[in-house]
Amino acid sequence: MNRPIRKAAVIGSGVMGSGIAAHLANCGIDCLLLDLAPTQLTADEAAKGLTLEHPAVRNRLAAGAIARLPKLKPAPLYDDDFAARITPGNIEDHLARIAEVDWVIEVIVEQLQAKQELLAQVERCWKPGTVVSTNTSGISVNEMSRHTGEAFRAHFLGTHFFNPARYMKLLELIPGSDTDPAIVERMKSLCEKQLGKTVVMAKDTPNFVANRIGTYGLLVTLQEMTDEGFAVEEIDAVTGPAMGRPKSATFRTLDLVGLDTFVHVANNVHAHVSDPEEQAVFDVPEVLKAMVERGWLGEKTGRGFYLKQ
Ligand code: NAD
Repeated sequence: MNRPIRKAAVIGSGVMGSGIAAHLANCGIDCLLLDLAPTQLTADEAAKGLTLEHPAVRNRLAAGAIARLPKLKPAPLYDDDFAARITPGNIEDHLARIAEVDWVIEVIVEQLQAKQELLAQVERCWKPGTVVSTNTSGISVNEMSRHTGEAFRAHFLGTHFFNPARYMKLLELIPGSDTDPAIVERMKSLCEKQLGKTVVMAKDTPNFVANRIGTYGLLVTLQEMTDEGFAVEEIDAVTGPAMGRPKSATFRTLDLVGLDTFVHVANNVHAHVSDPEEQAVFDVPEVLKAMVERGWLGEKTGRGFYLKQ
């Protein structure tokens, strides 16, 4: 139970997975960064005569995420050679390699079924002693792991990093009902001492602590203030730098998080609260649904409430 954490597998190389891998690497932990193997060639790959079986194509998603990392700001937080500690791959070809790691972190799309299916895959290669955690924004840790075995559940918990993972201090730690207390202590100590985080213990309730409050505030702003005719820039001017909170402007935050992810997070609370009045607050506004349908997902697609510069 007390084996040190030297190597991790981060599964999902999107907004959060890539940032978490970079932070771990920068703190001296070697990382496998795994994502799906693409099912379509890009125009560039096709022009080069590559096929879907070519390793450069199969590992493209995770490798592309690593290539973008040095452009993230503030770059000085990274060790010069951090990228060398991250090995990109695709989950189909490299899943068995999680047997080599001390910690597996699930950072894929915020959907219960996808996460349950991934945990089933992970459990097939998992060895006792390896910690498994989820970066879910608010899906129940117990629900996610309910089809896994008892020994696996004893090693499973939520480690909720915030965005951007490399410099947001807060980390929510969410034990499930079956998580071994020794694993919780071990992860608390690792996150505080080695990863430099401020750990807040949270209960396994919908969206835990931070996102239950944060999602509420964002939705009220979206639903009510925009109806009253306030412009995006006006609201951001008040909720951001002018209030001494440079990183928390409402719509810039939504663009940073990813509008698709935010919709999943809001839906998760909606599905789990029974009071109709509270539920109504978590109704996703039509404007947000329409933006997601158009692929305006925020910074990750270059367009959300703002155009990426
Ligand atoms: P994202 O959409 O940017 O990235 C998800 C990645 O997972 C994609 O690259 C996708 O290809 C990959 N993926 C999907 N299914 C997979 C599978 N079966 N195996 C391997 N890879 C798979 O999402 P994100 O914003 O990075 O969010 C990831 C998780 O972190 C979610 O649970 C989200 O709620 C949580 N989270 C997000 C934020 C945020 O600000 N975006 C903050 C905290 C927590």
